[in-house]
Amino acid sequence: MAIAGKYIQLSRFSIKFVLTLSFILSLYSPAPAQEVVSTWEMNRINWMEFKEVVPAKINTVILPTGTLEPHGVTANGADNIAPEAIARKLAPRLKALIAPTLPYGMTGSMSNYPGAFEISEATYRAFAKEILQGLVANGFKNIIVMNGHGGPQTNVLQSVAGELANQHRGVRTLVINWWSYTSEITKEVFGQDGGHAGINETAFIQAIDPTLVLPQRYSPDMALAYPERNSWAATPFPASIGLYQRGQGYPDFDQKKADIYFERVTQSVTELIQDTIKRWDRAGL
Ligand SMILES: [Zn+2]
Repeated sequence: MAIAGKYIQLSRFSIKFVLTLSFILSLYSPAPAQEVVSTWEMNRINWMEFKEVVPAKINTVILPTGTLEPHGVTANGADNIAPEAIARKLAPRLKALIAPTLPYGMTGSMSNYPGAFEISEATYRAFAKEILQGLVANGFKNIIVMNGHGGPQTNVLQSVAGELANQHRGVRTLVINWWSYTSEITKEVFGQDGGHAGINETAFIQAIDPTLVLPQRYSPDMALAYPERNSWAATPFPASIGLYQRGQGYPDFDQKKADIYFERVTQSVTELIQDTIKRWDRAGL
């Protein structure tokens, strides 16, 4: 009897444990695309399947935004490649479709480097706004802008996304600058601050595709610290690697750290989005 009682207690505990464990795992384990939709990409889905799944099964969309500009010894499109990779990683976790990237942006002081593009604020604002309006018209409730390029482009995206949500009750928008949100992770993984095409961004691209990073072309004098206290401004910026802090953030091409950084960043960004959606839902917005 005593043994049977103990056995029952134990098995109840085990069931509870297994249920809790599977609940925790369900939060983190991605939903395979085939169970929800044949592809997470808006580029690849057909209109009939889109109608079946949005918004009935999928009400979140991720829009990667970036630009083309020099990035030290990695790709000019790093600001597009990074948010696209984040979107691919997050789509199954969030049950989100991925909108085609907005790859031309407001580059700013690196616009005149070879292969770079500059889109004016007026054009960018109008075009970004209509893309977001199109996502609303297609039935998405949660619109996540995964931005890969900083500077004034961030302000434009934030204001356009804010206006859109205010104009459509029930639509929620979230704009994320992935590298800023995770700057503490940069310091933890690399033991220092990063920069534009610095240790963190170069590592992120190396984790996505090592062939896009060319250490043999690197020399430390490609890097320069950004001006302190707005004390000077040079156009074009005279270095293709911009350090947030003097003496820190030089690329080190360590694949192991790059992979850890990628995993930690994508996990942290996933949690930000999940938490924000949970709070919107709880508030009935
Ligand atoms: Zn960049």
